[in-house]
Amino acid sequence: MGASDIRRRGRKEQSPLEKELRKLCFDLTFERYGMDIPRQIAERLKYELDVIARNDHCGAYYLAYKLTSECRKRSVPFYTRGNAGSSMLAFILGITHVDPMPMHLYCLMCGNTDFNIGKYYGKKINARCGADLENIICPECGYEFTGDGYNMPFEMFSGINGEETPNFCIETAGDIFHDLCRIYADISDNLDFTGKIVLLNSPVMSLMNAMQYDSSVSERCIPFDKESIFEVLDNCDCKSIPYLHYPKCFEFENKPLSLADIAEQLGYSNTYFIDDNNNVKNKSIPLPKLPAADCDDIFHILMSYGFSRETAYRITNTVKHGKLRFIRDDIEELRKADVPKEYINYLTSIRSIRPRADMAEFACALYKLMWYQQHFPKEYGRELKEYKHFTF
Ligand SMILES: [Zn+2]
Repeated sequence: MGASDIRRRGRKEQSPLEKELRKLCFDLTFERYGMDIPRQIAERLKYELDVIARNDHCGAYYLAYKLTSECRKRSVPFYTRGNAGSSMLAFILGITHVDPMPMHLYCLMCGNTDFNIGKYYGKKINARCGADLENIICPECGYEFTGDGYNMPFEMFSGINGEETPNFCIETAGDIFHDLCRIYADISDNLDFTGKIVLLNSPVMSLMNAMQYDSSVSERCIPFDKESIFEVLDNCDCKSIPYLHYPKCFEFENKPLSLADIAEQLGYSNTYFIDDNNNVKNKSIPLPKLPAADCDDIFHILMSYGFSRETAYRITNTVKHGKLRFIRDDIEELRKADVPKEYINYLTSIRSIRPRADMAEFACALYKLMWYQQHFPKEYGRELKEYKHFTF
């Protein structure tokens, strides 16, 4: 498959909007990776674009792209909630901040991209997301590689055949909010689209925006490599990092030491269980030995037990909606595939669990605040006091 396949879809006639979206995707992918677009990335983008076009979701992507582009153009921080982060197209268009591909190395200088990370790190890789990979030098140009990838399947956003309608929930800082609403109204008046786009004014993004001004450091310039992340987390006062959406700080169970740690703890703390008396509880159940911090963990574990993508997705979706305990056939299938009993019990007790995309975007925003807190403590303390007066 070549890069130009991104712009094709069988012999079917493309709508002007689909053509525009494919062209945008092609141009931005070219800008990031150069002419030699890595095969895995070209395949993923082509797959996503085909699913999106087939289900008439081009409009929702286009509108979300226009809104987030405005934020980027004006250097206003934003954060896209929900499972949109599972889409590579959303990442390429700049709608989200997290790369959903499997862990890989990417060179900002020459575009060299390598998914075969074993050849640099050997068989034992401790990292659970690309940003936590040891810093390493690109053999092509001698510049330092950037680790990327959160390993999130597109199904988590689109469903198995694109049956889920896209849902983009964009939170941003107050200053730009009214302009975004105007852009939204102008575009959506002239555009027929299925999907949901929600704009929210976020106090936490306002705090991040204030820190950009106070520090003169753009949130986009904050380093995302293992060493920088470890240094910030090791010295961080986690108790003064506000939790998105809540007028309180996030309480970490254990001190997080990597970006994946933050995402994982967010995942477990956002999982709810149902007990024998039908009470919904959080954090009441011992964690299973196999990972289950988010929907994507469950999907990957089921795949590793030999389930097809379709079945793994179907069962994950059942767990996500807290319904596995009602579906005996699925439980039986899990048993037959030798999924450990304690894991099955854990899954059946889940009332709700979040997609990794949500947690990964959360984690990046929290880490950026931690970075500001550490490098500009005085300014951060002052802004945090202001922030606490915001109404929720
Ligand atoms: Zn390079």
